[in-house]
Amino acid sequence: MRQAIYPGTFDPVTNGHHEIIRRGCSLVDKLYVAVSSNDTKKPEISLSQRKQLIIDDLNNYSESNRIKIQVITLTGLLVHLAVKRNAKIILRGLRAISDFEFEVQMAGLNYRIDNSVETIFLSASEANQFVSSRLVREIASLGGDVSSFVSSNVNNYLLNYYKNKQDKSN
Ligand code: ADP
Repeated sequence: MRQAIYPGTFDPVTNGHHEIIRRGCSLVDKLYVAVSSNDTKKPEISLSQRKQLIIDDLNNYSESNRIKIQVITLTGLLVHLAVKRNAKIILRGLRAISDFEFEVQMAGLNYRIDNSVETIFLSASEANQFVSSRLVREIASLGGDVSSFVSSNVNNYLLNYYKNKQDKSN
């Protein structure tokens, strides 16, 4: 059984992430989407909520893909989690050149830590090349429309989230 792990902050999950998950599903029997609890990145959205948004979005997947996906929490070293889950593949997405340096460095380090786990990159399609969680948050926080970058579920969540935040600061 071929298993992969797709780690990320998913703050929040975007159509770009979903593209990688969907395409990843066609390569493996089981795909763990590992949501990082890493606080050094200071995620805007709580860990449990980031996980829940992904779980809710699984409704948009075909049944055959949905049964392959499991959303889990990433704590500690990614490679250790991959080994624990018996995943031989780390899946990552690449957008243009901006991700390249960081991603290649991380893949190299992970390989040094444990060379039984390989990193596989899928390049973003043209439509998702410029989609990032950071820009989605920025646009949504300023009242912009992010409905073409995220699911309707995430879009609704962000509308409420930033409305509440604004109400509180007024
Ligand atoms: P991280 O904090 O690990 O960068 P992200 O949630 O930002 O977590 O991204 C997780 C992975 O998904 C990374 O490999 C990132 O390059 C990839 N990714 C993010 N957005 C896109 C996108 N629009 N298209 C393809 N891959 C993406």
